[in-house]
Amino acid sequence: MITFDNVNKYYGSYHALNGISEHVAKGEVLVVCGPSGSGKSTLIRTINRLEAIASGRITLAGQDIHAPGLDVNALRAQIGFVFQQFNLFPHLSVLDNCALAPQRLRGLTRKDAEERALGLLDRVGLAHKAQAMPAALSGGQQQRVAIARALAMQPPLMLFDEPTSALDPEMVGEVLQVMRDLARDGMTMVCVTHEMGFARDVADRVWFMDHGQVLERGAPGEFFARPQHARTRQFLSDICTPFGVSG
Ligand code: ADP
Repeated sequence: MITFDNVNKYYGSYHALNGISEHVAKGEVLVVCGPSGSGKSTLIRTINRLEAIASGRITLAGQDIHAPGLDVNALRAQIGFVFQQFNLFPHLSVLDNCALAPQRLRGLTRKDAEERALGLLDRVGLAHKAQAMPAALSGGQQQRVAIARALAMQPPLMLFDEPTSALDPEMVGEVLQVMRDLARDGMTMVCVTHEMGFARDVADRVWFMDHGQVLERGAPGEFFARPQHARTRQFLSDICTPFGVSG
């Protein structure tokens, strides 16, 4: 579904993505992990063109998504993106947050968009908050609304950029549960996260990034049991608490 072909990206002279050549299959749940500053967020943001690339090619379902002249809004409408900071519209109710884009971009009637939004809010356990304003919700609830809002566009692909990093610890589980349910339903997902428990249980594959490269990739069983690179081993030992892996 997604291919990276020798993708390079610079911030000034800093080589942020260094010759990335990888692929993500349809229906795959990919977890991207690695130390802070390794390029994970930059990589995921190139998939919906929040970041430009210097060279190489990224295709989504065969389409070159960095081609000049590509309709960026049409591209983004096909990709659900969940940010670390939930980015809900603060002046709109939870329901309107989820019902707005399908009306504006997909031409749904208000009634149909609200019906779809309510169904999705129910799926993330928040139908009873439909009329609330975002500020009245906890961080975990806001992030679940953000996921419902992304799903309202019925995207074939969902990207998650550290979706639980801004949450208080007791709210991480509820967001991961929504992500687990989505994965079980067959959604193609690329998740930048430090939640290694989630990676171990839910991911089909894990990529480990370091210095702008995908240094190591594998099924979680292999990846966690037998990491090949010293830097991967170091990362995993740094991130695991004395009580076991987090998440
Ligand atoms: P990660 O998500 O793994 O923490 P990022 O992709 O956010 O890493 O960042 C990779 C590197 O690129 C870091 O060294 C970061 O400081 C740098 N970087 C990220 N965004 C910018 C930017 N807009 N301008 C300059 N440097 C940036």
